[in-house]
Amino acid sequence: MEDQYSRKINYLRLSLTQRCNFRCLYCHAGRNGCSAPHELSLSEIAVIARAASELDCTAIRLTGGEPLVRSDILDICETVHVIADTRKLGITTNGFFLGRLAGSLYDAGVTHVNVSLDTADEAVFEKITGMDGYKTVLKGIEKAVETGFKRVKINAVLLNGVNDSEEAVRKLTELTERFPVDLRFIELMPFGLSGSDYLKSFVSKELVFRALPDLEKIPDYGEGPAVMYRRPGSMGNIGIISPMTSCFCKSCNRIRILSDGRVRPCLLCSREFSIRGLDVKDTVNVLRRAIVSKPASYRDGSDSLRINCEMKRIGG
Ligand code: SAM
Ligand code: SF4
Repeated sequence: MEDQYSRKINYLRLSLTQRCNFRCLYCHAGRNGCSAPHELSLSEIAVIARAASELDCTAIRLTGGEPLVRSDILDICETVHVIADTRKLGITTNGFFLGRLAGSLYDAGVTHVNVSLDTADEAVFEKITGMDGYKTVLKGIEKAVETGFKRVKINAVLLNGVNDSEEAVRKLTELTERFPVDLRFIELMPFGLSGSDYLKSFVSKELVFRALPDLEKIPDYGEGPAVMYRRPGSMGNIGIISPMTSCFCKSCNRIRILSDGRVRPCLLCSREFSIRGLDVKDTVNVLRRAIVSKPASYRDGSDSLRINCEMKRIGG
């Protein structure tokens, strides 16, 4: 459906859990009163999928926390696939369990996979995520590519002094030379880190342009907020998602449901609606109200950038 600014809202992001086997520096701060509410059950997710279908959603992305830590993840994917029947069913994962699950996710109807990987250096990987898992994630990416999903993308967040040297960026970019994957650099948002810690860690997209001077812009790539570039000789493309130095609210097509069943009309504004315990009809009504209440831009919201919640609850 359209919101009051004539934007077509047809993309639902559904966070399945706050739990995660990683502790990424920029995400898992573990504070601010968003503690362990219970997760949406499979039957609640089925109601949401039916509501999404009634609202003509064409894309649903499952996220978290880490969605693959849910023991019923395959049932969830299959349920959403069968009920919502969207053109695109995506999952965003840290990739640790992907080697084992890629084939079953594909069979359950998942079409698109995004894997978070911020570095090509094992020690830096462990510093960022708190896990000795670089090789496992790399194998997960390889398995996802082999499995034949419509698209496999890599998401990378750069942190000042951790993984942001020009050489580190180029090394990570080698993935797009070896595999047909799109690598998107996402500017750090003020979720897991706040105040001066956030400002000290922030790296602007300009760093990527300095590291990769041969990027050629791809017009009209159609990839939501990412501006996409090709590099001569690479199988995959490079994307830049810069929520902090650009504003792409004008073309926003998203609505989010958080892991505790709250609907969030805008990633960066704190207003939320509850759909817990509602039937399909009332869920549709609340989603409609949430869509109508989407602000023109998070920069217009009175609470803009006073982030009060962790990314693992919202799911990106
Ligand atoms: N666990 C999964 C993963 O890591 O891909 C899914 C959830 S994670 C919250 C979704 C995306 O949000 C990841 O690509 C992650 O890099 C990104 N993210 C987390 N915290 C962020 C922050 N503070 N700023 C920008 N992106 C962030
Ligand atoms: Fe877990 Fe993903 Fe957050 Fe990292 S970014 S702590 S993998 S939810």
